Amino acid sequence: MEQIFNDGWIMTDYALILCITCALLFVVYSLSGSANPPVGLGMFTIYFMAALLGWIALSVQGAAATGNVGIDLNAVVAIINSYLLFLACGQRAGIYSGRYLLGGICLVSGLSAFFVPGQSMFFVHTAASGVFFVGAAVLTGWRAWRYRNMGDGIIALACLVSLFGLAYASLEASSGADSAAVRQLMFGIQSISFALVAIGFLASTLFEYQQDLGHLNTEDPLTRLLNRRGLGEALHVSLAAASRHGHTTAAILVDIDHFRQVNDSFGQELGDRIIQMVANILSRLCRSSDVVARTGGEEFMLILPNTTLEAAKALGERIRATIGDYPLLVEQQNIPVTASVGVACSQGQSDVDELYSEANRALFLAKRGGRNRVASVENNPVQLSTARNPS
Ligand code: GH3
Ligand code: MG
Ligand code: MG
Repeated sequence: MEQIFNDGWIMTDYALILCITCALLFVVYSLSGSANPPVGLGMFTIYFMAALLGWIALSVQGAAATGNVGIDLNAVVAIINSYLLFLACGQRAGIYSGRYLLGGICLVSGLSAFFVPGQSMFFVHTAASGVFFVGAAVLTGWRAWRYRNMGDGIIALACLVSLFGLAYASLEASSGADSAAVRQLMFGIQSISFALVAIGFLASTLFEYQQDLGHLNTEDPLTRLLNRRGLGEALHVSLAAASRHGHTTAAILVDIDHFRQVNDSFGQELGDRIIQMVANILSRLCRSSDVVARTGGEEFMLILPNTTLEAAKALGERIRATIGDYPLLVEQQNIPVTASVGVACSQGQSDVDELYSEANRALFLAKRGGRNRVASVENNPVQLSTARNPS
């Protein structure tokens, strides 16, 4: 055993860690581009780099064995490392509570290396690192569950492996096992855990990158609603079902009135905020089975499965009133905004393009009728609502 745990082996292990770290960061940075780095990349970079400190610590301690520095540098670095992993997992999960308390524990346990004897320092190290690993496992476990991201799950597993290693090494140490053998065990387990964190972080980043790519094609970045293409994909199944069962499907097209003037008067940025507010209003007013999309600059489409024209017109009127009856409060300014609404309905077989052009026909009527109103079409006849601009 002693022969395996020699300087050459440690050098090889840390050279491997250096290679894994550099390769990982290279892949992650080149995939994401520095403009949009993966969540937690900063802290994870520090964590991976700090692992290299372990190599320095062990080397220094190897030299110190003859110079007799007298402090357990390896334990100090391991404590700092596990705390950094906790911080990185916290940054990734967007949860920062407990970092000052655990930071205090890290400081005290690290400094205790200067006055606690070597054997007891082992227990200080296992206790402090144990707390940090529990915290990191909870944070990444939560993130893995919340975003269904297996990569975060692997990081949580790495924390549990470390935790298991610490518990096992403590048991061995308290039963009087040879301290070199216990250190060797810890060293091996921490290396496995480090490799798992690296794999988990890469997997998690790739998973999110892939998700972003998927969303790029189907999601509108300003409102986070579906775009026209996303709408088509989302409705593929439900429209086919409606056509099979002869259900009615309604479509509502909402277009903000005189939006060019709103932009000219209040600026493009406020215009964007108004678009986001209207998107929020639409998402709030519709049912969870309805699909909302931004189909143009200031134009939105709602598809209401299994909904009659009357029900859709009622919703259209609620939308019109919510947007148009009171000024919108945008960044401390009251801005009068109105929208015109076109409603269409089809029974049985229908596709998005067909529903869109019918609703657009109704919208055109609403605009021509004076704006801030709801118009509808069904089997070609046109109906104009009585709702009028209150101004
Ligand atoms: P109408 O009542 O006939 O709908 O008049 P309108 O001015 O709303 O319609 P028009 O189609 O002439 O102009 C739409 C304007 O919407 C033009 C463009 O400047 C603005 N617009 C389109 N996309 C965006 C966007 O993403 N952000 C902002 N702020 N404005 C946008
Ligand atoms: Mg408009
Ligand atoms: Mg428009």
